[in-house]
Amino acid sequence: MSELLHNCLGGRWVAGRGAGTALLDPVLGTELVRVDAAGLDLPAGFAYARDRGGAALRALTYRQRGAMLRAALEVLQAHRDAYFEIATANSGTVKNDSAVDIDGAIYTLSTYAKLAASLPDARFLVDGEDASLAKDGTFLARHVQTPVRGLALFINAFNFPAWGLWEKAAPALLSGVPVVVKPATATAWLTQRMVKDVVDAGVLPPGALNVVCGRSAGLLDALQPMDVLSFTGSAATAATIRSHAAVARDSVRVNIEADSVNAALLLPGEAPGSAAFDALVKEVAREMTVKSGQKCTAIRRVFVPEPLFDAVAEALSARLAKATVGNPRSEAVRMGALVSRAQLTAVREGLATLKSVTKVLHDGDRHALVDADPAVACIVGPTLLGACDADGAAQVHDLEVFGPVATLMPYRDTAHALQLVGRGQGSLVASLYGCDHAALGAAALALAEGHGRVHVVSPEAAVSHTGHGNVMPQSLHGGPGRAGGGEELGGLRALNFYHRRAAVQASPAVLAALG
Ligand code: NAP
Repeated sequence: MSELLHNCLGGRWVAGRGAGTALLDPVLGTELVRVDAAGLDLPAGFAYARDRGGAALRALTYRQRGAMLRAALEVLQAHRDAYFEIATANSGTVKNDSAVDIDGAIYTLSTYAKLAASLPDARFLVDGEDASLAKDGTFLARHVQTPVRGLALFINAFNFPAWGLWEKAAPALLSGVPVVVKPATATAWLTQRMVKDVVDAGVLPPGALNVVCGRSAGLLDALQPMDVLSFTGSAATAATIRSHAAVARDSVRVNIEADSVNAALLLPGEAPGSAAFDALVKEVAREMTVKSGQKCTAIRRVFVPEPLFDAVAEALSARLAKATVGNPRSEAVRMGALVSRAQLTAVREGLATLKSVTKVLHDGDRHALVDADPAVACIVGPTLLGACDADGAAQVHDLEVFGPVATLMPYRDTAHALQLVGRGQGSLVASLYGCDHAALGAAALALAEGHGRVHVVSPEAAVSHTGHGNVMPQSLHGGPGRAGGGEELGGLRALNFYHRRAAVQASPAVLAALG
């Protein structure tokens, strides 16, 4: 039997009491390691995190915690090669796709370590200016932000085992809040290894960083009113979490990052081969194939002016045809596997649903797998669909197929295009392509209300832009409506979730004594 990974809880490494769930190589089908959380004393472990980890973190200033993040960063950098090996084996990703997760995690952690320098050398934050509550100025209100006294529970999705941990843990630890992370079972190994390396290096106080791998049973029951919960995953699981008593009755603060049917839009006035046309084609092909389309921010719907539909379909298909798909260990391969057989089945089922209202413009099944057995490997080629009746193809706007799949649709005019983008009912990101700055600006503002991020690619930014699907720690991540209604990152804005805001009403002398 393979190695059983231990959980870190209550200040020690502890094995679950069950046989465990096997984590598999999605290309070779072999068993890698096992995880198990059965029999863990979650209430005691959570209490240790709050009482020991939380108290030790809160005793430090923001700048001291920034130094702590830097030390954690050095640990991750020292073990980077091992993380890539785990990602290849457990996520089936090619090196560039593993880097999106692993180097994305390292970059995000380093960004928060740097941001700490812009915070005061203090243990709480002042929010805005004092407000006078008395005519003679003897009584004022000062708003302060203090770190939450509970813990932060992260329940994460399978597609970002590294970045998904650190994009949440960096702002939490910087805020002074201890972390318990429960990675998605299918890819828990990388999260567990990163936590293990950092905990064993002794760069964080005991209890500050904990990991529970395996079933989620009992985790939410162990939450208390002053804890916070950050969930990333499907809308279906998010609905279960929202209705749990900890959230519904005890007001545990919750942030939800759910699924999203993101759009890319080529504005009117472009000709085939123009800079904006080419930028759209390049970005859509990239978004469909990076991490085999298993990115919550990936482009799922592509809107182009009616007269350009055929030209875009042709250009995109030509690009996708060049994708070499197969075993990520092969030098020739540019796109690796889906994460599991369950994902493969879900993608096939989703594709069948979308095909009922679209036509196939580029068929993923045309891609022969390189160095991989189709009977074993969880791999599909990229598929581009087309829906000439964008208004009538309801499933395309509703269903997120979490794989290398996107649908091209024509629109009549800008108003029609914006209305179609809105059919996503709230998304993480939309990207715009064009060269008319005024039209791009107007469309960006029109879409801002329904999106966490609007990514605008004009010719002067064609090289420097950071990519439709890349989540930069300086920018907001999240989205309204079906995207979950959450907010993460956005530089220091992320710290809000891990602080409580309160007004202290007192005389100027007392306020001065706050420090
Ligand atoms: P999922 O099935 O909803 O699982 C997400 C997490 O929830 C996993 O850790 C899972 O544990 C756990 N979980 C499942 N049932 C639970 C329950 N009843 N109570 C508490 N936790 C529970 O999602 P996924 O398949 O891992 O991820 C794919 C989805 O995530 C896609 O829809 C994608 O769009 C979305 N996503 C969104 C973002 C974003 O930032 N908005 C980022 C990445 C992914 P187990 O693995 O042990 O079941």
